[in-house]
Amino acid sequence: MSERDYTVIDGSYGEGGGQILRTSLSLATITGRPLKLVNIRGKRKKPGLRPQHLTGVQACAAVSGAKVAGAKLGKQELTFRPEKISAGSYRFHIPTAGAATLVLQAILPPLWKAKAASSLVVGGGTHVPWSPPFNYFAEVFLPILDRLGFKGEIHISRWGWYPKGGGEIKTSLRSCKPSGSIVLDRPFKLKRVTGISASSRLPEHIRVRQRRQLLRRFEKAGIEAEIGLMDVPALNPGSLVFLCAQGKESVAGFSSLGVRGKRAERVADEAANSLFLFLDSEAALDHYLADQILIYLTITPGEHRFTTSKITQHLLTNTWVIEKFLPVRFEVEGGIGEAGMVVKRDAG
Ligand code: ATP
Repeated sequence: MSERDYTVIDGSYGEGGGQILRTSLSLATITGRPLKLVNIRGKRKKPGLRPQHLTGVQACAAVSGAKVAGAKLGKQELTFRPEKISAGSYRFHIPTAGAATLVLQAILPPLWKAKAASSLVVGGGTHVPWSPPFNYFAEVFLPILDRLGFKGEIHISRWGWYPKGGGEIKTSLRSCKPSGSIVLDRPFKLKRVTGISASSRLPEHIRVRQRRQLLRRFEKAGIEAEIGLMDVPALNPGSLVFLCAQGKESVAGFSSLGVRGKRAERVADEAANSLFLFLDSEAALDHYLADQILIYLTITPGEHRFTTSKITQHLLTNTWVIEKFLPVRFEVEGGIGEAGMVVKRDAG
């Protein structure tokens, strides 16, 4: 196969991180087009494939029978030649605290395209920095996808924090019947806030103080909030605040993780501040969902539009990757860091 037969993607484009790899793998698998990735995670301090990314490559290869060359830890170049996608039961494991939700990010779009039910078990980190916590997937990401016609359930069987990981997420996907156009551009109307303050292997006062601080902040703002407390078993200590802003037409999620030396009140404040900033923007979707939903809008025919609280480099890079694979066009209004609007059109 010659170089010309591959879609070549430069992994150092934009923010130059792992998402370029995941979106490219998903779309290569869906379209059946051979992919060559170069400069993988080219702008990261430790470039190349890390365990989470390698598991993502292996997962996409397993569901599509792909022939892969170069998939080794630390490698910055690989080729991926997919065959046919097969629905089924799959199990993948990240041997570190790499994010299990990010492996799901790569593998869910192709499996939904397979048009038959699948079940997946992914082991690794479930609540780790710079990735969607399990709760975000369950309460924000999947409910919005459900509205687009991508149906599924997700459960956590074990929590996994940094540094040991050891968590496990089970997902079952039902059929995908893409709905019509999605228009989410009206100002976000908050109904209520729900959330949890969770911890593992830490004294009870930590999760109690996180919750108390959240309730203080919401009471002061005149917002009704229901915050649960959870003590969860795990391999090592960890703490989390997760908040879900339930709106009339959409949901948004905000989280903060505890680390040694960071006060419980600060963990609570970080998540609450993100939620308040989002509400001030009046946008329909938070900036995480904005980059995560793009691929689903492109495999759903028609014009879609949404507003987001922040245009990010991740979002812009994802539009760039998608346009390399599919005949779609994105129009993005707003500069990086500002609230904005995204419109997806099918290229004529
Ligand atoms: P790298 O290690 O190269 O930075 P990565 O594979 O960890 O890359 P990114 O390319 O940075 O990942 O992509 C991270 C993804 O996780 C994005 O889709 C982003 O929206 C999502 N994400 C990060 N933090 C959160 C959060 N707190 N809540 C929800 N989603 C999040």
